[in-house]
Amino acid sequence: MKIIPIGVWGGYPNKNEATSAFLIEQDGFRCLVDCGSGVLAAVQNYTELRELDAVIISHYHPDHIADIGVLQHAAMVGMQLKEWETPLLIYAHDKDQEEFKKLSYKGVTEGRAIQAAEILKLGPWQVSFCETVHPVYCLAMKFTANGKSVVFTADTSWKDELIDFSKGTDLLVAESNLYEKYLGIIQGHLSGSQAGELAERAGAKRLLLTHLPQYGELDEILHAAKSSYPGEADFAVIGKSYEI
Ligand SMILES: [Zn+2]
Repeated sequence: MKIIPIGVWGGYPNKNEATSAFLIEQDGFRCLVDCGSGVLAAVQNYTELRELDAVIISHYHPDHIADIGVLQHAAMVGMQLKEWETPLLIYAHDKDQEEFKKLSYKGVTEGRAIQAAEILKLGPWQVSFCETVHPVYCLAMKFTANGKSVVFTADTSWKDELIDFSKGTDLLVAESNLYEKYLGIIQGHLSGSQAGELAERAGAKRLLLTHLPQYGELDEILHAAKSSYPGEADFAVIGKSYEI
């Protein structure tokens, strides 16, 4: 399984970059995990858009869905040119019906509702979900194939259930949007030390930090994560291919 970070920023994209999103590949199947601002431009460095087999969305905040509309335009143009044959499937929860309905567009993309309590069969993966703690309903995701797994926390405050959910994962991709001094002040996100604690208590084999703030000294967040996790921890590097 290959995981390629497309963007690493929380809230809005930093200059010339994209908000937190990942391309995940297995056996030739390609899935885009979240599709926020700047993602459509950035992901084309790593795949033709028509070679995407699916998109999966954690929640309906703009930094996770902003580029869905332009992805739909790309699919529409692709179909008009007969380069794009079948509708692109976009998986997301349907707790927000208004947002969910927008995922289906003119026969070029189709929204598919995620049932969080069930395992989703998606190409070569089994995908399971854990509701996070965020101002809107949001799902952490675990992709498993051939005995390997990657967990994306999506956006969340601390939640004990994420420890079991991430148990023994080969790669924990954890949001770490907060400097330690904002813990208890800014809600809905993890700090570096919490991302590290989650990795440590889950026994994750490797930790990647994402959904980063655009301000402050980012190294403080990595340092905080390493203070609670003795394993391999780094910021997700845009365009790097992580193999598990
Ligand atoms: Zn976000």
